[in-house]
Amino acid sequence: MGSGVCRVQPDSRWVLRAAARDEGLWQAAQSALGGKRGTFEKVAQPWVTLAVGSGSTANFPTGPNQPRWASDPEGYRLTVETNGLVILAATAQGAFYGLQTLEQLWEESAEGRLCPVVDIEDWPAMRFRGAHWFPSASGVPMHQKLIRNVFGAFKLNRSVIQCEAAQWDKHPEITAPNAVSKADLRRLVATGRGCFLEPIPLVNVPGHAEWIFRNGSNLDFAEDPQTPYAYCVNHPKSFAFIQDVLNECLPVFESKYCHIGHDEVTMRGRFPSPECPRCKGATTTELVVKHANRLNEWLNERGVESMVWGDMLLGPGEAKDATHAKTLADARARREAISRKVIIVDWHYAASADASSLELLRKEGFRVVAASWYTPANIHHLAQAALATGAEGLLQTTWMGYFPDEQAMKTQLQQFTAFVLAAEYAWSGRKEPPAQLGYDAKEVFLKAYNRPRSIGAPGAGG
Ligand SMILES: [Zn+2]
Repeated sequence: MGSGVCRVQPDSRWVLRAAARDEGLWQAAQSALGGKRGTFEKVAQPWVTLAVGSGSTANFPTGPNQPRWASDPEGYRLTVETNGLVILAATAQGAFYGLQTLEQLWEESAEGRLCPVVDIEDWPAMRFRGAHWFPSASGVPMHQKLIRNVFGAFKLNRSVIQCEAAQWDKHPEITAPNAVSKADLRRLVATGRGCFLEPIPLVNVPGHAEWIFRNGSNLDFAEDPQTPYAYCVNHPKSFAFIQDVLNECLPVFESKYCHIGHDEVTMRGRFPSPECPRCKGATTTELVVKHANRLNEWLNERGVESMVWGDMLLGPGEAKDATHAKTLADARARREAISRKVIIVDWHYAASADASSLELLRKEGFRVVAASWYTPANIHHLAQAALATGAEGLLQTTWMGYFPDEQAMKTQLQQFTAFVLAAEYAWSGRKEPPAQLGYDAKEVFLKAYNRPRSIGAPGAGG
């Protein structure tokens, strides 16, 4: 912090200098800097400069002694002086994050916006900073707002969108009344990309597959037709079905990743069912591992990396909760046999969550993302565990029904305010518990969510 303030008048000019004009960054600058006085200057250097007013023209540091913010693809430096401000970053994404910080520093005054004099060098503690959510037809406006005003604004960079129950052309038999359309899903993906959120589809199999059996459909390949919860992993119709869905889903996302579930496979019904002629005599371990590896290979062939939930790979005592292998021997056999190319999303929702399973999975050579839920202590503990074990990051999950919309905020607000805490710990790596962060996550969430912004909105400014 320095002394004094920088005033940005409504007619202040700003300039974006970069090798190419990134649309997401351009629109974020329109939103953060107001007015339409921005200009773009194409330059030969690979770094990005965003300058307002006549502040000192700071140079981007290059060479062997580069500071941390300059060498990080998501880092930035924000320098605010009384006569102007400048954001420097190695990438458009880094500059976007500089703008988000600036948005948090603005104060409105009668003479226009002002920002305290400050010099910030910033970069993320975690590479994977994700939000997990279910889309719905009625929830599209809420999710557009969450993406722009909360996820992007607080520097999350992944959206894991559990979209298995979208309106797939090839399988209208499973369409639910509030299922999101593919056109809306495409819009949500595009809005996310505009805010530097990599959208990752989540299509849950072989268990938690009630979506496949909706309206009494597809019971011929349910593992236990009396309790249609998992599909038979050895039935040719199962693989044909999941290929149909993924063949429609992957082009909507064009993501590097796809999450294929594989959690709580034995939670309901019989798996394997003694009445299934294809699975009779097989163990759960064989069926689950074979299926995960097969789908992983299929995705890899299409240039997509797969993710699965971690609970089926953990046995009694290997974590505080979410250990769904019946025995330690089962858990070890599953970890032994599953491909190291599969990224494990290790979810633990107990407040007392610790690093034990993350450490175990890391030691055994897996790429791991920790997944938290809404309890503040859970998010705090799991984030610390992820940092200590070299996990790729944190995924903040939400569970409030399959088709949530703004109604859910009335009863499940704690699940939304949790995004603020998750984003905080994933970006800053701060060690303090939530009560000592110096702000109220609920207040911060509501202020951000309800703030009028135009980031990522097609046609906003230009
Ligand atoms: Zn079967």
